[in-house]
Amino acid sequence: MNVYLSDMLYDAIVAYSTEALPAEACGIIVGVNHGDHLQASKFFPLSNLAGDPAREFTINPLELLPYLQNDKQPVIGLFHSHPSAAAIPSERDLQTLWHTIPSYWILSLLKPSQPELAVYQLKKTITTTYHKLPLVRGQ
Ligand SMILES: [Zn+2]
Repeated sequence: MNVYLSDMLYDAIVAYSTEALPAEACGIIVGVNHGDHLQASKFFPLSNLAGDPAREFTINPLELLPYLQNDKQPVIGLFHSHPSAAAIPSERDLQTLWHTIPSYWILSLLKPSQPELAVYQLKKTITTTYHKLPLVRGQ
C-alpha cells in the first residue's frame, strides 16, 4: 500500500519534530484512505505526556479521540519521532493501543541533516494455542 504525502507536509513534520527536540514529537496525519493507497493531507501535533519524553511518547486519548471521530478528515496515520534512534518501531511502539489506525509513521532524527521518515502498517495477531488434557472415561 503506497503512502503519498506532499513535500510541504513532509517539511512541516520535520520542522515540528526538530523543534520538539530533545523530546519525541507526536501527532496524527489526516487524509484519505483509498484502500489500496493512503493520501496524507495534514499533520496535527499532539502533546507528548511521557514521563521520559526523550525516549518515549504517550498520547492523551482525550486529545486524540476528537480527531478519530471526525469523518470529514479521517485519521490515516499516527506519527512520532525518534530523536536518537532509527526509523524502526521499538518494542514499546509495537505495544501501541492505536494499532487500528491505518499507518504508523516514524521520523528518525538520528542524523539531523538527513531525517528519515518511514511508514508502517501494524498488525496485531492474537495467537490461541491449545494443549490436550487427559480424558478419563467411566470414572
Ligand atoms: Zn518509537
